[in-house]
Amino acid sequence: MAKPLVALLSGAGISTDSGIPDYRGPNGLWRRDPEAEKLVTYEYYMADAEIRRRSWLMRRDSGALGARPNAAHRAVAGLERSGVPVRVLTQNVDGLHQLAGLPARKVLELHGSARAVVCTRCHVRGPMEDALARVAAGEPDPPCLECGGILKPATVMFGERLDPVVLGEAAAIAKACQVFIAVGSSLQVQPAAGLAGVAADHGARLVVVNAEPTPYDDRADEVIREPIGTALPALLARLAAEGGA
Ligand SMILES: [Zn+2]
Repeated sequence: MAKPLVALLSGAGISTDSGIPDYRGPNGLWRRDPEAEKLVTYEYYMADAEIRRRSWLMRRDSGALGARPNAAHRAVAGLERSGVPVRVLTQNVDGLHQLAGLPARKVLELHGSARAVVCTRCHVRGPMEDALARVAAGEPDPPCLECGGILKPATVMFGERLDPVVLGEAAAIAKACQVFIAVGSSLQVQPAAGLAGVAADHGARLVVVNAEPTPYDDRADEVIREPIGTALPALLARLAAEGGA
């Protein structure tokens, strides 16, 4: 018998133990600082070289590329290695699920990746590390090396649409899974909230792991308020022992 599919939706809360703050949640840093929010808003970024210069410096100084996966990321990768079919839908752009050993094809990055850059004209992609090295070497706003176009982080900025292909795949996984675990997400913004609803509507067992209450707690089969770094490994070990569901 095929093992049940586990879908795990992760939000900022899974990465706080790795030293990455919540930037873009409803109460995130960017929402509370209009000047900082401009640096990650597409319209301002594209229109103003000074905004781009400050945006690159912010990325250089954030140290986010140096963040390491924590026990929760490792537990998710471990569940996949144990033979349970796992797909991760993440609101995070930190790439820590993959760094923990989860194959990239198992991870859908709803908001893109801060570990890559993309050209806004020819759409070629490259490592963020290389772009930041160019900034450090004296290019305040490094252009695309292929076409000279404006480079941006491969993240979904405010004012940009989410990738419809990624969204479609995420909805299909939410419909198909037997277990849907929402971890470290307030479930207050789309598409995260909608995905939890789709999973519940299609009969998945819904588990919410979050410090604060979410709008989906009353639809959940289980709500866990304990710290993610210990609660998620324990939950996933229990799932693996049950055979996934
Ligand atoms: Zn280009």
